[in-house]
Amino acid sequence: MKISEILNKGIPTLSLEVFPPKTAEVFESVEKATLEIAKLRPDFMSVTYGAAGSTRKYTTAIAGGIEKSGVTALAHLTCVNASEESIKAQLNSLKEAGVENILALRGDLPEGVESTEDWVFRHASELVEVIKRYGDFCIGGACYPEKHPEASTLKEDIANMKKKTDAGCEFLTTQMFFDNNIFYNYLYRLREAGVTVPVIAGIMPVTNAKQMARIIKLSQAFIPRRYVALLDRFGNEPAALKQAAIAYATDQILDLLANGIEHIHIYTMNKPEVAAAIQANLSEIIPSCRKQ
Ligand code: FAD
Repeated sequence: MKISEILNKGIPTLSLEVFPPKTAEVFESVEKATLEIAKLRPDFMSVTYGAAGSTRKYTTAIAGGIEKSGVTALAHLTCVNASEESIKAQLNSLKEAGVENILALRGDLPEGVESTEDWVFRHASELVEVIKRYGDFCIGGACYPEKHPEASTLKEDIANMKKKTDAGCEFLTTQMFFDNNIFYNYLYRLREAGVTVPVIAGIMPVTNAKQMARIIKLSQAFIPRRYVALLDRFGNEPAALKQAAIAYATDQILDLLANGIEHIHIYTMNKPEVAAAIQANLSEIIPSCRKQ
């Protein structure tokens, strides 16, 4: 099913993100974890794409497996260093695997590269245009409540998100954030700039302290004092920290839903138990979280 249809039903949704294996040796164990997550019957599942296409065939295989299990899959696709031919080849293999939805991304700049000016695809919006021309896919994109690190201002970044939706991007999923007020403010500014597509709030239950340090470095997300206190108190107790992270994520989601936000995406880090626990906490609130 097209994700645009799922998002336009007028009911709250919960979707789950997984990542593919990096090597053939761990394919089976990663596939097993993703199919465990698919058994939770979320509204849809997204599958990431390794840096510069490094997991291309595994992204397709995992997304195809999710579709076969009866859950709608969203395959991520980046255009760093890609040619139009390589993009078309990946679109063909996704089509063959039964995947109808693509999250079109530029991808991170490889180390030492500072500009995309010489590339075939300089921005995600250019990838969106090609996918749109090429096939009958529903296309989503990424957005950044705390600004993309390369943009000089949030205003400029939002203007670029408008270009992405004008090019044919039908929904946006946010970078993770830990303070809902940042998201509310961002959403207001997106709407003010004329971005009208559904915006899915990306929530990350951070279940270990090391992961948090990496996240801050990569996404530059603001960590509220309340979350820092949880990490300080439970950082060395893995089971306790996992429970605290699930509770914090649930609390964030409840606040979003109470304030009229309808679509939530969980970065599961391939942990079925974390996704299941959050679903259980929302079983009377989001229809797809109700036990089947
Ligand atoms: P763009 O939308 O192209 O934006 C990148 C920068 O260029 C921004 O600063 C923007 O303001 C600017 N820009 C955009 N359009 C224009 C324009 N027309 N003119 C001038 N400037 C412009 N990475 C992976 O490698 N694999 C993944 O699977 C993956 N999944 C992700 C999922 C989500 C939900 C998010 C939020 C990010 C994900 N990323 C992934 C990371 C992403 O690839 C990086 O953040 C990357 O640096 C930017 O990708 P983008 O698609 O947002 O790029």
